[in-house]
Amino acid sequence: MSNVIHLLTRRPIQSPQEVLPRPEECLACFVHRMVGLQGCSDALRWVEQFRVHRARRATALTRRLTAQGARCDCSVTDVVWRVGPELWEWAWDGRLVPPEVVPPCRGVRPNSTQPCRHWVAADELAM
Ligand SMILES: [Zn+2]
Ligand SMILES: [Zn+2]
Repeated sequence: MSNVIHLLTRRPIQSPQEVLPRPEECLACFVHRMVGLQGCSDALRWVEQFRVHRARRATALTRRLTAQGARCDCSVTDVVWRVGPELWEWAWDGRLVPPEVVPPCRGVRPNSTQPCRHWVAADELAM
């Protein structure tokens, strides 16, 4: 039943597991997945969720991302990092666009706040 609710409203009842970073999941994949699942927090709350569970000592994380131009969760995977060009897809109108759903994370080591190989620095991506 909860699957039906999820598909129609895109607002599933939060199960604690669903809103936690998966083992080895990187910050970028986690934040992107949460924004798709639950929406942007209009702050860096999903970033902070990741930090608390996966990189507790990275206390400067939100400050660092803010300095890189992130204003909220969704801008982390738009302004700071972007999906690498090899994952972009052709849209119906012939434009090359980032995929809405990113493939499963390639994984990062524990305590890392770096993105996995799916992501590149946004300012390096010259399309
Ligand atoms: Zn946002
Ligand atoms: Zn990843």
